[in-house]
Amino acid sequence: MECSSSRKISEIFGCLTFNIDVMREKLPRTIFNRMVEIIEKGGKMDGELADAVAHAMKEWALDKGATHYTHWFQPMTGTTAEKHDAFIQFAPASHTEVIERFSGSQLIQSEPDASSFPSGGMRTTFEARGYTAWDPTSPAFIVARENSTVLCIPSVFISYHGNVLDMKTPLLRSMDAVSKAAVRILKLFGNTKATRVIPSVGAEQEYFLVDQDFANERLDLKICGRTLLGARPVKGQEMEDHYFGSIKDRVLNFMQDLEHELFQLGVPCKTRHNEVAPHQYEIAPIFEEANIAADHNQILMETMRRMAKKHNFLVLLAEKPFAYVNGSGKHCNWSLIDSEGFNLLEPGETPSQNLQFLVFLVASLMAVNKHGGLLRAAITSAGNDHRLGANEAPPAIMSVFLGEMLSDILNQIESGKMNGDSQEKSILDLGISKIPKVSKDQTDRNRTSPFAFTGNKFEFRAVGSSASISIPVAVLNSAATEALEQLADEIEKALKTKKNFNSAVLHVIREAIKETKRIRFEGNNYSEEWVKEASKRGLPIARNTPEALKFWIDGKENSCLLKTKVLTEEELESRYHICYEQYNKTIEIEFNTLLELLSKNVLPSAYKYQSEIAHSIAGARDALNPDFSKTVKTDSILAPQVEFFTELSSTISQLQKTVEKMRKLREEAHSEDDDVKKAFFITKKMVPLMLDARSLSDFLEVRIDGEYWTLPTYSELLFWD
Ligand code: ADP
Ligand code: MG
Repeated sequence: MECSSSRKISEIFGCLTFNIDVMREKLPRTIFNRMVEIIEKGGKMDGELADAVAHAMKEWALDKGATHYTHWFQPMTGTTAEKHDAFIQFAPASHTEVIERFSGSQLIQSEPDASSFPSGGMRTTFEARGYTAWDPTSPAFIVARENSTVLCIPSVFISYHGNVLDMKTPLLRSMDAVSKAAVRILKLFGNTKATRVIPSVGAEQEYFLVDQDFANERLDLKICGRTLLGARPVKGQEMEDHYFGSIKDRVLNFMQDLEHELFQLGVPCKTRHNEVAPHQYEIAPIFEEANIAADHNQILMETMRRMAKKHNFLVLLAEKPFAYVNGSGKHCNWSLIDSEGFNLLEPGETPSQNLQFLVFLVASLMAVNKHGGLLRAAITSAGNDHRLGANEAPPAIMSVFLGEMLSDILNQIESGKMNGDSQEKSILDLGISKIPKVSKDQTDRNRTSPFAFTGNKFEFRAVGSSASISIPVAVLNSAATEALEQLADEIEKALKTKKNFNSAVLHVIREAIKETKRIRFEGNNYSEEWVKEASKRGLPIARNTPEALKFWIDGKENSCLLKTKVLTEEELESRYHICYEQYNKTIEIEFNTLLELLSKNVLPSAYKYQSEIAHSIAGARDALNPDFSKTVKTDSILAPQVEFFTELSSTISQLQKTVEKMRKLREEAHSEDDDVKKAFFITKKMVPLMLDARSLSDFLEVRIDGEYWTLPTYSELLFWD
């Protein structure tokens, strides 16, 4: 849909959203004011208000050509869900004539048949009811396809008994919690203006583009979104000629179309560029309130898939679509911003502002220090297992990078000495007042850290490219909430004994710096030494998803979620099971896909080629030996060919054997009912066997005539232009 023919972004931005400006225009003033209050402060919506908003929203949507509406929500599958309803009801006293209608209660709540969404056992099938409820803080929007126009109402998804069944509710709850805790700190600093604090998030999205025609020939790309086999291409990313390179026309056309659509939906896309691997790209929006950023990232991923199709591309959002080249992440930039627009992770102009900055900084350190395992659980997935810890992505161990200058300042505060002077006063006067605005260039030099301070925000780099950001950000918010509450308690306590406010705060900061020292790491996160060092420091280490998911039910790790009421025990337990279930299903599908590729493509190609070589060698022997008197000379000429043939045949045999083993293993996995046990079985047995099979297949691929090899190769997939 086109709102206007203009190509000026400011003129089309948000034109497909029922945003605050549209509300101002369409709603009666008193209704509008009450809506603004609900959006900003929360609160209940009564029938009158809901009816008025629903009516205005419907009229606006009909004007845009919408025929249907849907509550758009984010079940625990990580994607989004929608069920369309037409805006109709029978006209009064008629059964033949319909009118367009949309009531307040239809806007506020809907009841999809929820029995097929994951609930981790919280909702038994006989009680299949789940509710979607409008989240008025995120603007409704129009999705227009070729032949259909639908009003999408961002919603949360809860069970009949009020349990969380989605990704969004925990995020919204965590935003409330962190706001209260942060405002409490601000009040201690004498701030009377800030009424709330909002976690801000900018999610940089990495992705690959492959030509749809090649992708159509690869079942693994079509089904799993990543390659399960493929030999090393003749060229990878070693020339470093793709990063920030000039964007090719075909890709640029796609990006332009994508962004045009996203601008209309109010997604503030800001940056686009080539990434490191061939045909790997990044798109980054301007940061927004966390829940809006989460919705917009989902819209971004959906629109990308759709737009890619239009340009005959397949977009790959998987964390590791190709071996041998970089994987993709979704760097979540995170900060806290007060209702006055002040970024609380921005070093300030005055010593007092800097002291406040340090409180928020150490709160972030405390969050990762105490809940590193939970953060690890929040970002883990079958796909991210291939990326984390590989040599181009953050490691699987959570640590924080602060950069030299901040580390130095924290070290000096810890030791109580500043420039050799141990007076606390001098720290306040010289040290804190000296924290200049930390520019990005000064700090953002450690690309290996999973959680890095980058001038005025943290960059949580471990999030996977295909993941919803809601849960990682919700965990981060609630870990930060716990830390801020603890700091507020401690500051209040210290105020009773310390002579002034600054000394009390400094004392608390110093203790927090000591407590969180183990989580700070400035070195190379990829090195083997770091793994050893991290384990010496007692940091939680999980090598894979089944290990990482254990942190969901670890009492020490999940305490912040319970304390802040972001998730209940029951909701945590259900999430824990859903995550295992999802991991298992993902790998089982990959396993089946690989088995199919090996049986239907690789082995048949290999057998045909083997027969060809057998004929060729037999023919050569006859030709070299017309009188059939086997000579030494003939044997020595043919020896390398026979050796090649032997190696080929032996690899085919091994692969055939591996395929049979895979079939047996699949049966074994099938008979395991316990999801957790199954996940460990999968990691231990099935994943390694898949890698074995892959290396045999890749060995064959480089030896078999291209005419026989039916699958598009890495060179074709990565260098299609
Ligand atoms: P880089 O690739 O160098 O890390 P980008 O410009 O690609 O940087 O992405 C930076 C992201 O951080 C953007 O989405 C930006 O809006 C976001 N960001 C900047 N400031 C903040 C902030 N205060 N809170 C959250 N995100 C922020
Ligand atoms: Mg970037």
